[in-house]
Amino acid sequence: MRHSLIKNADIYLLLVSLLFTISCHNNDLKVITVTGEIPASKMGITLTHEHVLVDFAPIDSITPNRYNKDSVIMKVLPYLEELRPYKVSTFVDCTPEFLGKDPQLLAELSRKSGINILTNTGWYAADNKKHLPHEINDLSAEQIAEIWIAEAKNGIGNTGIKPGFIKIGINDFNFSETDKKLVAAACITHLETGLTIMSHTGLASAALAQLQILKQYGVDPSAFIWTHANVETKMENTLAISQMGCWVAFDGIHDTMVAISWYQKLLQFMKSTRQLNRVLLSHDAGWYQPGKPNGGEIRPYTALFNTLIPYVMHEGFTKEEVDQIIVKNPAEAFAVRVRKLKKD
Ligand SMILES: [Zn+2]
Repeated sequence: MRHSLIKNADIYLLLVSLLFTISCHNNDLKVITVTGEIPASKMGITLTHEHVLVDFAPIDSITPNRYNKDSVIMKVLPYLEELRPYKVSTFVDCTPEFLGKDPQLLAELSRKSGINILTNTGWYAADNKKHLPHEINDLSAEQIAEIWIAEAKNGIGNTGIKPGFIKIGINDFNFSETDKKLVAAACITHLETGLTIMSHTGLASAALAQLQILKQYGVDPSAFIWTHANVETKMENTLAISQMGCWVAFDGIHDTMVAISWYQKLLQFMKSTRQLNRVLLSHDAGWYQPGKPNGGEIRPYTALFNTLIPYVMHEGFTKEEVDQIIVKNPAEAFAVRVRKLKKD
């Protein structure tokens, strides 16, 4: 009797210490914001693909002198403040270098709004490679990765602000050698830094082509976010990519009935195929555009909360399912850690 009691106590202690180890491990995972590291568990409700500012000017004329920082803050801050009633605590800014990435502007907006903001390292080849540095053809994937890894380790430029993920953009209709090189550079950077790769993609065929490069480099699909997956119209293609284990980002939510009903269909499909644990949702909104009078029209970051979520909950989604998509999935997707391909 006494003997079995001790045995039970031993097992109990073993279980407690195991649970403690697991929970410590989770607590250790970090997300890197423009104002410093936070535990991934503190990300809370997260918008995983938005923009404060995007500048499509030719690469040689892009400079922060093209806009007045205070005017941008005055214009964009109210849109971030609109997120307070929805308890949004983290905002992922997806504007890459040579398209207006401005970590200091983001840091100031983060301090003023109280929202965590993530910025990125990486380059954007979509839009016909107009936003790539001129020396792109002379650089190898390894040399590009070296530049990005240096940003991750030392901060962006002389700001001391570190990227929280890798943002690349590829051409889905014309997946060229340059596109492949950026994906390869992203894989090398991931293996060195543990930063998640987010790729402006579109069609499932282009997501598949990129996942094949990840495989060559031994990077697990869970380190990859298939951005603009909402563009793919064949849901069986979306399912096939999702089942490979990458993140599927439906990130162009608009406040129109056509858009909302498409997103509702996508979500119902992902639910019926048990893939909600792979889904990310966002608007790809904002877009202060230097060169336009007063930055042009800003698209709000709220349709997810005031239209789509109420709609899908009315159609039978539970609060747990919604939290899975807007809280749990972002924390898992952006938590910094190297994700090597598991050997079968
Ligand atoms: Zn975007």
